[in-house]
Amino acid sequence: MTSSLKLVVGALAVVGAFSVPHAQAQNFPSKPIALVVPFAAGGPTDVVARMISAPMGKALGTTVVVENTVGAGGTIASTRVAKAPTDGHTILIHHMGMATAPALYRKLSFDPLGSYEYIGQALDVPMTMLARKDFPSANLSDLINHVKANKDKITLANAGLGAVSHLCGMLFMSTIGVDLTTVPYKGTGPAMTDLLGGQVDLLCDQTTQTVPLIRDGRVKVYGVTSARRLSALPNVPTLDEQGLKGFEVKVWHGVYAPKGTPREITEKLTLALREALTDPVVVQKMGELSSDIPSPDKISPEGLRTHLEAEIAKWGPVIRKAGVYAD
Ligand code: ASP
Repeated sequence: MTSSLKLVVGALAVVGAFSVPHAQAQNFPSKPIALVVPFAAGGPTDVVARMISAPMGKALGTTVVVENTVGAGGTIASTRVAKAPTDGHTILIHHMGMATAPALYRKLSFDPLGSYEYIGQALDVPMTMLARKDFPSANLSDLINHVKANKDKITLANAGLGAVSHLCGMLFMSTIGVDLTTVPYKGTGPAMTDLLGGQVDLLCDQTTQTVPLIRDGRVKVYGVTSARRLSALPNVPTLDEQGLKGFEVKVWHGVYAPKGTPREITEKLTLALREALTDPVVVQKMGELSSDIPSPDKISPEGLRTHLEAEIAKWGPVIRKAGVYAD
């Protein structure tokens, strides 16, 4: 090949290399977007995803389809999206399980700080400590006494190791000094089905699923994991005010795209997420479910990345001290 022809071919290759992401970004979105949820349908993470999927789709001019990819405390979904095409059409919504995974799983096939582009933080959701409706204890101190006296007979449900229900349950057991039989599910949607049916005794779960059930008296509630009482559940005391000092778990959420997704695409996704979280219907509904919408600066790549780094640093020592490993 003559040198001038090589020069032309070389130049075209360079243009080609830069133009693919640019062309992708120009036409993005060119098809429906998969919003991957790491837990079973019906659970609190699924509720959040289905709340924002329609307004995000509207903002982007496409449909956002929620896809539940379950298992291993959310790490199967996190791996799927880490390995997905970088065209912006496969994104992940996950909660603080993204921050606990590095301490819980010794063999992770993704790196929370290396496998993703960050879209932004989503919602902060408190949790509630629940029992099946006919559980014998009237309040938290009765519950603690009853659990200690019957620890071999009582079951505590969660959504798998790395799930926040697992984390909350682990903190509860270590705080009251008791080890219960834990029953893992693919999400707290199916766990709640068994709690309502009386097949399992206790569950700590996000208000995005539990508020309506508490209101309807279909479960017993012993406390909320927020620092202050919730406007949606004014008569439910916090665990802290009932003596479990400092017991606070607030479940934050983030939205992620695979590493290498072009910036022009992630910027469109961040804007769409921000629009969805300021949609009046979403704001009202999440308020009813005691969920806080982050400030606009947190609904950004930097806002999510800095929070994720801080949470990994915070929960790592707690989990390693508890000596809990998922694998
Ligand atoms: N509540 C679950 C968890 O414990 C998440 C879910 O099922 O949505 O992480």
